[in-house]
Amino acid sequence: RSGVALIAQLPTSTRVSTLPKVCRRNLNQDVRITRTGKPILTVSGGRSSLGGYTATVFGATGFLGRYIVNRLARSGCTVVVPFREEMAKRHLKVSGDLGRVIFLEMDLRNTASIEESVRHSDIVYNLIGRDYPTKNFDLEDVHVEGTERIVEAIAKYDIDRYVHVSSHSASKESPSEFYRTKAVGEEVARSIYPETTIVRPAPMFGFEDRLLNALASPSNFITSNWMQERFWPVHVIDVGMALEQMLHDDTTAAETFELYGPVNYSMAEIAELVDREIVKHRRHINIPKRLMKPLARYMNKYIWWPIGSEDQVEREFIDQTIDPTAKTFKDLNIEPVDLKSMTYEYLKGYRSSQYYDLPPMTERERREEKKYLHVID
Ligand code: NDP
Repeated sequence: RSGVALIAQLPTSTRVSTLPKVCRRNLNQDVRITRTGKPILTVSGGRSSLGGYTATVFGATGFLGRYIVNRLARSGCTVVVPFREEMAKRHLKVSGDLGRVIFLEMDLRNTASIEESVRHSDIVYNLIGRDYPTKNFDLEDVHVEGTERIVEAIAKYDIDRYVHVSSHSASKESPSEFYRTKAVGEEVARSIYPETTIVRPAPMFGFEDRLLNALASPSNFITSNWMQERFWPVHVIDVGMALEQMLHDDTTAAETFELYGPVNYSMAEIAELVDREIVKHRRHINIPKRLMKPLARYMNKYIWWPIGSEDQVEREFIDQTIDPTAKTFKDLNIEPVDLKSMTYEYLKGYRSSQYYDLPPMTERERREEKKYLHVID
């Protein structure tokens, strides 16, 4: 408006040459100020927009990672993706315009590589997490020590924002090592960088999830708790949206968010939904905890592909708990979607090719069908 008022005061000859330039700038450009007062120029223009911000996403090669890298890169932010494995990150390259997604090799024990990954950024997301211990990293290495190294680098380079993705039910008193180490990780992050935004997602569903895909896959679904654990499954796209919003809303700094779906389900209820959607019945085997735990420990140690762990068996006996003091989707003005409304989208690939999703024929269609006799050749 101020630009237009300014033009009105100019002599007519100058107005003609100035008008298009001023209007274009007013329409497309915006200057945002970060939490520490740094001006960020943003220009909207489709895929070639300039988001202005530089964001580092640790753990971008995982399930949730692609949904935040994609959102940031397509709005024109420069996204730094620290990675360990060449093949695991290549799908992220096309999520933004040329030069928007930058890959840097990183090791969680190599402080220099972590510092290199964060030092030019305005915001750092830490999505690194593991459900099971691996040969080189136990849960504490990943959730506590890894977090500590990342947050120390953030504090050292005075990065504007840090968003730490923890887990639902994270508690230091939990019988599960995963939830305990996630809680300690949160504490470590807040003690080094008090403005840390903590995000605790519920079990997430989406195309690459480990929830619907595990229930729909042809292999047997093995549990120990008769699928009785209860939780509020959340759509991964909703979590991605929430993470993106945190970049633009500095009031989320130093807050804790519990991101969970609108409906509480037991695993058995979800299995029933899945069976109905894929029009098949998947076999479920229950092995008692006292047998399953040593078996899972043995398998996790000697089999080199992800096969479950002792702690995952323990987690089946823990229902999701929600911290009533934490903020939720409501505080971000996001309406989370229910799992039931998305099962068709994510599970249609599991339906048998013999299944035709056509509505029953009406009486008229049946009569008309008889009217035509197709003679070919
Ligand atoms: P994934 O397991 O799909 O991805 C985990 C990411 O962490 C990967 O990018 C992986 O890298 C990285 N990572 C793991 N260990 C290491 C390590 N030692 N060094 C470097 N990088 C490592 O997780 P999700 O995307 O599903 O989840 C994201 C976060 O949300 C995690 O912290 C998870 O614990 C948490 N969470 C997830 C839930 C879910 O339902 N999925 C529920 C609750 C919390 P690489 O590809 O190289 O292995």
